[in-house]
Amino acid sequence: MPYLTQLAEVARRTGYPVTECPGWKTRGHGPQPAVEGVVCHHTADREDLHVVRDGRPGLDGPLSQIWLRHDGRIFIVAAGRCWHNAPSTSPNHTNSASIGIEAENNGRSPWPAGQLDAYRRLCAELCKEFGLPASRVRGHKEVNTAKSDPHTLSMNDFRAEVARLMTGAGPTPASATRVEEDAVPEIVSLGAGRDQDVPAAGELVVRWHTEYVDDPDDHGADGVAVFADGARWALCDALVKLRGLQPGEDVDLAWTRCSRDGTKVLDDPWRLTVHADPDGRIERNLGGQFALSADNQLRLRILNPGPRPVTLEKVTMAKIALFRR
Ligand SMILES: [Zn+2]
Repeated sequence: MPYLTQLAEVARRTGYPVTECPGWKTRGHGPQPAVEGVVCHHTADREDLHVVRDGRPGLDGPLSQIWLRHDGRIFIVAAGRCWHNAPSTSPNHTNSASIGIEAENNGRSPWPAGQLDAYRRLCAELCKEFGLPASRVRGHKEVNTAKSDPHTLSMNDFRAEVARLMTGAGPTPASATRVEEDAVPEIVSLGAGRDQDVPAAGELVVRWHTEYVDDPDDHGADGVAVFADGARWALCDALVKLRGLQPGEDVDLAWTRCSRDGTKVLDDPWRLTVHADPDGRIERNLGGQFALSADNQLRLRILNPGPRPVTLEKVTMAKIALFRR
């Protein structure tokens, strides 16, 4: 079997966004000899595409053909053979016989629903492409006695879902919960775009100047609110970057549900107090999960109890996956 140069096209059939890493079509430890299985991994870190591509001390990259980001974006890393499972306890899941998927997860964090949905759909499309049954999708923990990834996932449930997706059947109408899990989320992707001041002893509602892929009207004209058309679960993930603090100083980060007109704070159960590093900087991910409706909206607030203004950096970004509920 040659280099698997169809991988990007196969990944696009999932409906999730795909990034082709430059050079992927010729990257690998030689061509891929065979595809008889798919091995699911977690990376054990965050933002570690470069490790999957370039390797780590003692193990040359590429480590897997595919890196799956926490928001469901699929990165195609290599078309050739990768070092992701040795020694394998299954002949169908050796490096020479299988495709590796490395999902971005530090080995502890809950799996975002959107990433899991993308993971299953990706496995289903790979199985269809290479003529494999869903039973050939294995967790690394199932085909290598020394591994525990992907953490906490029941691979039997995972495979059952892959098998269902392979038939092309629509969402199982059995229960509302099931439909919610199966629906493809709408992903709202926002960037701060400009530096913004958080006043001393005050708060900033983050203004999103950059809107990557959301549909029109998903966030308000003033750029601070995320709206849902109807009943939705909103799964939020922001990367917040701040500077201008004294080492050890605190700020609070808070995904906040507000009244639809934005005048009233309803709740912020995911609020997090964070401390500045020795350089007076903060870089933190802030998750959150909310029920949105036509009666409310979502904002990201930065609360600064300190005596001096703090700068929210323009590279601050957020993704919100909206699932029907
Ligand atoms: Zn692994």
